[in-house]
This record gives sequence, C-alpha cells and structure tokens, in this order.
Amino acid sequence: MPEHAVTEAFDVVDLIRAKRDGGELSTAEIDWLVDAYTRGVVADEQMSAWAMAVFLRGMRPREIADLTAAMIASGERLDFSSVGKPTVDKHSTGGVGDKITLPLAPLVASFGVAVPQLSGRGLGHTGGTLDKLESIPGWRARLTNGEFLEQLGGVGAVIAAAGAGLAPADGKLYALRDTTGTVECIPLIASSIMSKKIAEGTASLVLDVKYGSGAFLQDPARGRELAETMVRLGKDAGVGTVALLTNMHTPLGLAIGNANEVAESVEVLAGGGPADVVELTVALAREMLALAGRPDADVEAALADGRAMDTWRRMIRAQGGDPDAALPIARESETIRADRDGVLVAQPALPYGVAAWRLGAGRARKEDPVQHAAGIDLHAKIGDTVRAGDPLLTLRTDEPARFARALEALEGAWTIADPDGRVAVDDGGPLVLDRIA
Ligand code: URA
Repeated sequence: MPEHAVTEAFDVVDLIRAKRDGGELSTAEIDWLVDAYTRGVVADEQMSAWAMAVFLRGMRPREIADLTAAMIASGERLDFSSVGKPTVDKHSTGGVGDKITLPLAPLVASFGVAVPQLSGRGLGHTGGTLDKLESIPGWRARLTNGEFLEQLGGVGAVIAAAGAGLAPADGKLYALRDTTGTVECIPLIASSIMSKKIAEGTASLVLDVKYGSGAFLQDPARGRELAETMVRLGKDAGVGTVALLTNMHTPLGLAIGNANEVAESVEVLAGGGPADVVELTVALAREMLALAGRPDADVEAALADGRAMDTWRRMIRAQGGDPDAALPIARESETIRADRDGVLVAQPALPYGVAAWRLGAGRARKEDPVQHAAGIDLHAKIGDTVRAGDPLLTLRTDEPARFARALEALEGAWTIADPDGRVAVDDGGPLVLDRIA
C-alpha cells in the first residue's frame, strides 16, 4: 500500500469497484477523487479505470453535478462583474467546418453585449477556433487577465486561449479520456464542458450540441440527453443556459480547415456566405442576445449593414492581428471532379474532417503545429445538382505527400445519384432540430 494511502479519506480502488458494479458515489467521495487525482495521489491508470467504469455504468444527475463542482473547485473562477455589460458565451460540442464562433462573437458584441470566448485548440478531426484565428498574420491567442477584461469592456468580443488555471482537473482527465476510449460519454462530456464554462464566469451560455456523422454523438436522442444534462448543470450553477440541438451530418459551409474557414467567416460578416453557416450564426446569436436581455435585436441587419464586420475588425486588431492582411495559401492543391451527372445525395461530415486533418489542418498530439493553409474547399453541397467534370472539392496542403492518406479518408465521402428522386438526399434533417431550455 502506498505510504500516503493511510492519510487519505478514501481508497481509490473502492471507488473504482463501486462504479464498476453500478453503484453511486457520494459527494465526499467524488470531491476526494477529483482532488486526489489533481494532486497526483490517484494515478492515471486508476482514473482511467474509473472513467471506463463511468462510461459503461453511467452517473446519476447528482453525481454529474458533484463531478462538475469538484472540477470547478480544482482551479480558479473568473469574475466578469467589473465589465459593466451583460456577458454571454457560446460553446459548440464540435464539428467539421464549424467556424461559427468567428462571425458569432463579433455579431453579438455589436449589440453592446460582452462575449468572453475562452477556446481550445483542435484535437482530432474537429478543428480548433484558435488554430483558425492564428492564420491571421499577427493575431495572438494568449492574453493576460487584464488585457482580456479591457477588451471585453471595450470591443466586447474576445476569443482567447483558456489559461491552465480553469478546471485543471478537467484538463488532466480530458487528456486521459482522449487516449483511453472514454470521450463519448455523456456524464464526462457534460461535466468537462460545463466545469470550464461555469469557472469562466459568464452570466449566460448558449450551447450548440451537435449530433450526426461529424459529432461526438451520432444519434440525435443521445445529443438531446447531452444537451439536457448540460442545461441542467448550467442552470443549477446560476448560469442562464439554453441549448440548440444541431445537425452535424454533413460539413458546415464550404470551407474545412483554418485560413479558409476565416475567409468564409468574413464572407458571413460581409452579409454573404453559405446559407447553413448564416442560418446557424443567426439562430445562435438570437439565443445569446435573448439571454443577455436583447430579445428584439435585429441580427440580420447587423450582418447586412457592416456593424458586425466593424466589431470583427476591432476584435482582430485588439489582439495584434491585421484584418486586411492576405491569408496564407497552400503550396499544393488537388481538385476532385464529379464522374457523372446527378444529385449529391450523401456527403457525411466525418471523412472530410479526417481528410482535412490528414492534410495538416489539425494535429495528432497537442504539441504539434498545424498548417494554416491546409484543408478542403467544397464546390458542391449536399442536395446540389452536378454535371460530370464539375469540381466537387479541392484539397490543399503544403506537403504533397499528405494527399494519398487524405484521399483514402475520402473514399465513399460522396454519392451522386440520378436526379429522379428515387435515392433520397441523406442530409440528416433540419439544421436546428430542437431547442432545450
Ligand atoms: N469538449 C470538452 O471540453 N470536453 C469533452 O469531454 C468533450 C468536448
């Protein structure tokens, strides 16, 4: 028995066994487990075993709330009360081509609402907001607390790197889950996301919970359960929380990568952009503004008349970026064309996310750099009619050796059918399936 075991309140093996056998842990046991793991008294292999037991056996709502509270207590809590504006944040559970934060934060801030966005970097096939913004020359993700608060009070929108001080227990546990097959677990996802958002100190929060091929959870019923779990956690912690359950069956927009997603976001801020990106940006902005006390704000007008774009430019400049600078362009590209006439009836998101990642847009390990110009540009979206020879997509990378593996990932990533309607378009249904409040 390790020396410290006799001075600890609980024995971790008892807690692993209890969960393994479908039992319920007490508040004191969960508090201790998270604290002991953060202190290094509980080893990674023990926490992995416990996470797998939770994955297989689940947790009761009270246990999920306790786990969230314990992870919040493992670090600092920010306080935005000095900002003098209502604060509202948004979190997406992640998807392919999901650049919505980029147009959304300045759009909402253009109504005098503060949007404190503490974001992460991409891991695996879903891209990271900070990786996308770092393709803008000069832009920096790291701000001091003072810089963050000043920008929040002035420009209103800040998208910056979350410091290691927020819910450090989650940082440790999430890295472990990533390598032990325990990510796709509702109690663990909900407590992980909500511990960071509650510790961040936002007054209200809109969640974009995704389901479908490019999301953590494929099934809308499981997406709904995740949304309900997170909304309950937020409200119980005094954070006004609403979730939209949205379709990640096919990629969002036409750009999947980093710099190309910035360019597409700028199109939306200029009043254009792909219809699905605009629809989701507007839907989330309305929810955020309603929570911030501005239910009648005319969101579309702020996109059309340049107010949101002005705020974007100020936001980028405040963090050292040049909103007018040219974005990086990949050295190599390869375009794939339709081999027949017809309708694009299937375009599942996941293979595009994996291919963009293999082209260099994402990272395999958290220390790896990303290629800002790597990614995929779609030329046709699900439901479009194409003719043989039309371009379907362009792959971009600085390293041509990456094309082969990316193309492998794209095998079966589109289906062109006769336009007679006999093969239904497999788009997964409406973009916004439900609202959970
Ligand atoms: N994002 C997080 O922060 N945590 C999860 O568990 C999943 C997605």
